[in-house]
Amino acid sequence: MQKPVYLDCHATTPMDPRVLDRMLPYFGPKFGNAASRSHSFGWEAEKAVEFARKRIADLAGASPREIVFTSGATESNNLAIKGVVEATRTAGPHPGATLGSILTLATEHRAVLDPVRRLERFGYRAIVLTVERDGLLDLDRLRDSIQPDTLLVSVMYANNEIGVLQPVREIGALCHEKGVLFHCDAAQAFGKIPIRVDDDHIDLMSISAHKMYGPKGVGALYVRPRNPRVRLAPEMDGGGHEFGMRSGTLNVPGIVGFGAACDLCSREMEAEAVRLRALRDRLKSHLEAELDQVSVNGSMEHRLPGNLNMSFAGVSSASLLMSLPDVALSSGSACTSATVEPSHVLRALGVSDALVHSSIRFGLGRFNTEEEIDFVSHRIIESVRKLRSLVPL
Ligand SMILES: *Cc1c(COP(=O)(O)O)cnc(C)c1O
Repeated sequence: MQKPVYLDCHATTPMDPRVLDRMLPYFGPKFGNAASRSHSFGWEAEKAVEFARKRIADLAGASPREIVFTSGATESNNLAIKGVVEATRTAGPHPGATLGSILTLATEHRAVLDPVRRLERFGYRAIVLTVERDGLLDLDRLRDSIQPDTLLVSVMYANNEIGVLQPVREIGALCHEKGVLFHCDAAQAFGKIPIRVDDDHIDLMSISAHKMYGPKGVGALYVRPRNPRVRLAPEMDGGGHEFGMRSGTLNVPGIVGFGAACDLCSREMEAEAVRLRALRDRLKSHLEAELDQVSVNGSMEHRLPGNLNMSFAGVSSASLLMSLPDVALSSGSACTSATVEPSHVLRALGVSDALVHSSIRFGLGRFNTEEEIDFVSHRIIESVRKLRSLVPL
């Protein structure tokens, strides 16, 4: 067993060695710019990019023309949210006359909440919906909150801390019934569970290669071309790459790796989900059998197979992580960003401050073994007991 054992797959997944193999030539002899139209170096790069675009589109149930490459899900979220809003501003009969509202969830990733907050500073209204105790959005609450001026609803597919899966299909259907565009941050879900943009009524979808065993710094935005047609203002002006929606020379090796990662996910997703769910449940039952006063955060029923998020009452997650140098985990206090603050996700669920500071996120992935899971549960049980004996409840 290699130490530390990596159980932080919501932060990033290890790259699959098969993905790296496919990328390597594009760092070397196949270095061409995919936008070079006049020679074979460019054609070769373009062919590789289009091959990857097809792989990504296939996994989303989309067509290649609807996939816009970006630097990752942060950029995709920004492009979707700001791009839609800016496009409505310039397209309407009285440009800029009315500023609409944007609806999102309190449990979204910062890469959604922060762009929405920025638009708020420009006069748009942000409606940030709370979730139920299990982390799920109540559909009636959404129905009641959509206003005549709502420009966009942005709800994530799977949460990056608690792994909870929102009722995306129903949300999408409701948005389309109300004539509102629906953006979905699927960074954690894509490649882990089956997603079809048409069945789910998704108009814009953000994805990221490094959450699905691909390289960092590459992602995509799915953009629906009709029924309804999404109009998107580009964030970056330049050479007009990516159908005019995202200028900049394409990251060819990254895109090749992204395509290879999608290819592997489409073939292995089903079996991998079964295996990870079993490992996750094994970890959960060990911890619950050996420790009292532990609680799971978020719905177990509507959840990614590889996620577990637990609070260990009376134990600070910082001390727990410090006592486990041979396990790579993340706590509920330093999750989503470079700043250390208590998880806004757990807070939105109504978890008490004390339990937020006692929570640990487990992110299991493709390369974790049963031996590793047993090692980790053993180490956690040992540490929690020891820490509790120092400061009794
Ligand atoms: C990781 C993540 C992002 C950011 O993706 P990057 O590709 O790292 O920019 C956005 N949303 C969610 C839900 C994520 O898990």
